[in-house]
Amino acid sequence: MALETCGSCGEQVPFADTVHVLVHTKGEDGVIDSYICRDCYEEYLQPVVESPGSSDEGASVDSASR
Ligand SMILES: [Zn+2]
Repeated sequence: MALETCGSCGEQVPFADTVHVLVHTKGEDGVIDSYICRDCYEEYLQPVVESPGSSDEGASVDSASR
């Protein structure tokens, strides 16, 4: 099985367990294209892309307060 090196922790992980990260910096660095392992994704990126306000929990709290 093909292995990818995690761009965050440097761990070698099976390709199927990687998350493809594509970042458009809009600056000198241009587009950063890398793979990170699922652990790093859940720790660092998931909170960024999934918050705030998009969770069902937040919505239910909001509607309950009215
Ligand atoms: Zn990692």
